[in-house]
Amino acid sequence: MTRRPLDLLAALPPDEEPRQPGAYTALRFAWQRARLPGNPAPPNWFAPDGERLGQYDEKTNQVWLSTELANDPVELVRTIGHECEHARQHARGDWFNEASAAAAGDRLVLAWAQRTAALHAKAAASGTSRGPSIRLPFPGECDTDPFDPIGYLKLKTAPTPRPQYSWERNS
Ligand SMILES: [Zn+2]
Repeated sequence: MTRRPLDLLAALPPDEEPRQPGAYTALRFAWQRARLPGNPAPPNWFAPDGERLGQYDEKTNQVWLSTELANDPVELVRTIGHECEHARQHARGDWFNEASAAAAGDRLVLAWAQRTAALHAKAAASGTSRGPSIRLPFPGECDTDPFDPIGYLKLKTAPTPRPQYSWERNS
């Protein structure tokens, strides 16, 4: 958002951060779309300061998000797109430009909605999942499981059937 020094912002301690793992998924998605190298650091959260919803810190190459966004998924994604555009501008050595950051935020909202719809359609077509939630980057069975960044590497195994007696098979 506005280019103000970060001096007055303090990162919340980890146990006070909003439980919003979807924010990091959206941030990685935006980071890739902006063709920024590598993976972004997880976002830093700050308490609402009445001035901004997000901030890109070019010194640490990190995105900061206001906890106000935790209950507003659309504004959360819009702000992530906005700050990643600032990260892209910085990486290119450009001046920070609010108009193109705002436009990038709007574009990310659209792209994120399309991505979510595509994941839902894929999950519905597979017939094995209720569909992904915004919390989980990969379709899973249990929304209450803690976020597992390598969950998609753990193959799901079918339960081993108990041996059956012949009379059971015919019943
Ligand atoms: Zn901005």
